[in-house]
Amino acid sequence: MADFPLFIDGEFRDALSGATFETRDPATGELIGTVAEAGVDDARAAIAAARRAFDNGRWSGLAATERAEVLQRVAGGIAARFDELAQLEARDSGSVLTKAQAADVGQAMSWFAAMAELAPLLDQPEALPPSPFGSTNTLRREPIGVCAAITPWNFPLAMAAWKLSMALAAGNTVVLKPAEQTPCTALRLAEILRDAGVPDGVVNVIPGPGPGTGEELCIHPDVDKVSFTGSTAVGRHIMTLAAGTLKTVTLELGGKSAQIVLDDADLDLVIDGALYAGLFHSGQACTAGSRLLVSEARHDEVVERLRARMADVTVGLPLQPGVNVGPLVSQEQLDTVLGYIELGEKEGATLLVGGGRPAGADLAGGFFVEPTLFTDVTADMTIAQEEIFGPVITVLRYRDEDEAVAIANGTPYGLAAGVWGEPIHAGAVAGRLRAGTVWVNDWHMLSPMYPFGGFKQSGIGREHGLMGLLGYTEAKHVHVAATTTVEGHPWFGLTVAPQGAQA
Ligand code: NAP
Ligand code: MG
Repeated sequence: MADFPLFIDGEFRDALSGATFETRDPATGELIGTVAEAGVDDARAAIAAARRAFDNGRWSGLAATERAEVLQRVAGGIAARFDELAQLEARDSGSVLTKAQAADVGQAMSWFAAMAELAPLLDQPEALPPSPFGSTNTLRREPIGVCAAITPWNFPLAMAAWKLSMALAAGNTVVLKPAEQTPCTALRLAEILRDAGVPDGVVNVIPGPGPGTGEELCIHPDVDKVSFTGSTAVGRHIMTLAAGTLKTVTLELGGKSAQIVLDDADLDLVIDGALYAGLFHSGQACTAGSRLLVSEARHDEVVERLRARMADVTVGLPLQPGVNVGPLVSQEQLDTVLGYIELGEKEGATLLVGGGRPAGADLAGGFFVEPTLFTDVTADMTIAQEEIFGPVITVLRYRDEDEAVAIANGTPYGLAAGVWGEPIHAGAVAGRLRAGTVWVNDWHMLSPMYPFGGFKQSGIGREHGLMGLLGYTEAKHVHVAATTTVEGHPWFGLTVAPQGAQA
């Protein structure tokens, strides 16, 4: 069997074709293990298992409070394997250990715990306004059915846990397709779910290629919802595929988040915050603060202080303590990022810091890029419009706040944005930004209790919080008439049926 087999209907097994692929450490190239590669036939088997598991009601038919108990055990199971999972995530994805601990394993744990807390709300039918007919009307929240979850490589365990915790809390069954770059921790999570008492078939995990295997999840008539996190291009394609059977879709897509530095901001905060916003996980975050907008008045001071502070950012092997920036996930991603850096110079931006591969023999076998700072960037340049997904910060000047807001809103994306400045002033500017999350004097802070998602081409729908949980439910309105006899029904305009009209 592969080192990391598929998980279908409660069992770990190889792909039906026997195909496998390798997963490697992006920092060193070292082999982590072989992974079973799910094909279309495996996707169909997983969908069939999820469909049976949904229809037999052993999970979907439980009270949400009963499901919540299982989810609490899942959170405990993640806690019990915290170090093992963090190490595996860091090696499989190249994320520095602190990121894997806090943003992957830590988030996975807190999402299951939070959804266990929210789930019981689903057991309470919502009262609706009084009925003019004297009927009793309530709104019930029911699971949608079989959900497909397709996740990216940058926050592998967190993204798997986001989608699974919400879908399961609401009573759905799931087929999860993790990204092939980083499949390992989602398969470990499957063990934890099984051991916590999630019934067979309720969760299925099938690493395999997006084209083919992932697409099958988007077109199969037995799948009721697709929840996708990834690039805008693939999200658009998935929505088209899902349209054939009118599946519900939630799309969490790309971003090009602007950080607006107001003139009343504390520059110590701005410099460290801007670097964290832009360089966290080597810039491979959908919410990366990749555009820094600074007024003419403070431009030179901000740039000089950023340049100086970037020398303190440590690039290195992800498992070594004190490292801030690890490698990119793959050769492909490295080529893309170096391509954008070249393009930035070609289009006339000034490459002030970095831009190349870091020196050091220990880094030679990995996909490392130096933290990079571009100045003299204008809003129309490619590096200010497209997602680079690397450790690259672009600095743009603005003349006044109107221009800052226009630049910030001037891309097709609208996932996140941020404002550095005096809180009331910054809050007012936040109100003008077209983005699903706006941070004021902070960055990259997500919570299972607060909604997250994109405006414009950054997505459709919201995840997290009660709003996110409701996104995994169907709303059912139940109308109970005031009377159980024919009298009193206004049908066909008759207020009272004639006595004895019917023999
Ligand atoms: P991606 O190329 O869109 O891939 C994401 C997932 O979709 C992977 O599992 C991939 O599978 C799968 N996929 C690819 N082609 C597919 C197809 N034709 N049909 C069905 N599934 C398909 O994105 P990525 O490069 O992994 O991740 C980076 C992107 O994700 C960035 O744009 C980033 O902004 C976005 N992102 C958004 C959020 C958010 O919450 N908004 C969070 C994180 C990342 P394989 O790779 O295995 O083929
Ligand atoms: Mg890997």
